[in-house]
Amino acid sequence: MLNRILVIADVHANLAALEAVLADAEAGGLVDEIWCLGDAVGYGPDPAPCLELLREKSTVWVAGNHDFAAAGVIGTADFNADAAAATAWTQRQLSREDTMFLRRLPVAQERFGFTLVHGSPRDPVQEYIFLIDTAAVNFPVFSTPFCLVGHTHIPLAFGREASRVHEISLDIPVVLGETRLILNPGAVGQPRDGDPRASYALLDLARREFQLRRVAYDITAVQQRMQRQGLPQRLAARLSIGR
Ligand code: ZN
Repeated sequence: MLNRILVIADVHANLAALEAVLADAEAGGLVDEIWCLGDAVGYGPDPAPCLELLREKSTVWVAGNHDFAAAGVIGTADFNADAAAATAWTQRQLSREDTMFLRRLPVAQERFGFTLVHGSPRDPVQEYIFLIDTAAVNFPVFSTPFCLVGHTHIPLAFGREASRVHEISLDIPVVLGETRLILNPGAVGQPRDGDPRASYALLDLARREFQLRRVAYDITAVQQRMQRQGLPQRLAARLSIGR
């Protein structure tokens, strides 16, 4: 039985943030598995090294929209100009093997009572669950007790009791009990909740807890790497403010 799961989403080719998260998680004890909720690549300066690092570990993957865009599975017509430019740059950094790996990623997985998707259960690659109403229509779509999502780059938790859906604070660990849950660990590589630190979660399957954690990393160094690679200035600037 696995006990300690590192839950990450939206690494977005930010190797420095990913390394900080791994070090922080592993400092507290052995991590049995990494569950990566999509968008390992896109936006950031180190797509291939992020894939390589995660593939060395026992990582359970699902595809995000940026993973599929980088692999050519979906187009970038509904991306903004910066995201599309970063996707084109990312495509040039990936080996054929990397591209094939991303192309074959599943859009959903079930593990130990959790459904893993990037966006939402009903639209695994594209839908954003920001709001209670969106969470509410998605609860009937998955059959496990709990669901893990990413994509919004904002840590969020929703619970459903007697068909009533409500938002749950992540300021303290969320107990995995009778209440069905949709949980979002926030973004490792490009947080958008106003806190620029990398966001992730630890899932303790023995203690039945989901704990949100934040860890600082060297943002300036990542911004300089992005500048040297000619990635869009706005994508680098937003890392400082976490928006
Ligand atoms: Zn993302």
